[in-house]
Amino acid sequence: MNDARRPDSRVAGEFVASPNHGERRGFHRPDAVILHYTGMPTGAQALAWLCDPASEVSSHYFVWEDGRVVQLVAEDRRAWHAGRGVWKGERDLNSASIGVEIVNPGHSGSEDDPPPFPDAQVDAVIALLTDVAARHRIAPERILAHSDIAPDRKRDPGERFPWDALWRGGIGHWAAPAALAPGRRLRRGDEGPPVRAVQTMLALYGYGLGVTGVYDAPTRDVVAAFQRHFRPARVDGEADGSTIETLRALLAGLEKA
Ligand SMILES: [Zn+2]
Repeated sequence: MNDARRPDSRVAGEFVASPNHGERRGFHRPDAVILHYTGMPTGAQALAWLCDPASEVSSHYFVWEDGRVVQLVAEDRRAWHAGRGVWKGERDLNSASIGVEIVNPGHSGSEDDPPPFPDAQVDAVIALLTDVAARHRIAPERILAHSDIAPDRKRDPGERFPWDALWRGGIGHWAAPAALAPGRRLRRGDEGPPVRAVQTMLALYGYGLGVTGVYDAPTRDVVAAFQRHFRPARVDGEADGSTIETLRALLAGLEKA
């Protein structure tokens, strides 16, 4: 049902009110954006779910495949999309962020090959985030994937999401992924200073990862999340040379900023 209120973003065509929101705690304005795919067979099902009080989930914005943008929750309210997660030590990411649900069935259909995101939809995400980031002065490196903040349980918006296209559109933080090449890979069971070095870099970038020196399951999950976002050519949770080089380039880009 259409609410009478006007969307906060000029990019959103309508406001369809979800009842699922609360007060932001400790943040009076968002300083991050978290991107999701809806992960359901159709957009209509996802929209109904996000507006159902029984679901206790929501997002601020919802982007259809054809580029139409709907607002569900006011930007000054805390929408319920992030769940348990951490980024840069912050755990209440719902309070810290704007949540954007992008219609795509994701990994729920054909397990390892989610369908591509149509250009019109990607263009709409770029337009929306350009507006949101400018109004709230959100830094490029704080445009995140749900999988970045919850690598142990989330894969969205997935390795098919075109972060490189967002970057060309002026959105997000990016470094050209280093080419895949043969060579040593760190993987489950490895230990020692090289593992510690990778964990240190990932934690410095923002991932919630303990620096233990042991390539444990959390390390594999965070490396896979990193690959999904920044080096999607191979998402296997193993820290190969290309993954580490791409991570280094991203960190170097932050230092320059
Ligand atoms: Zn999500």
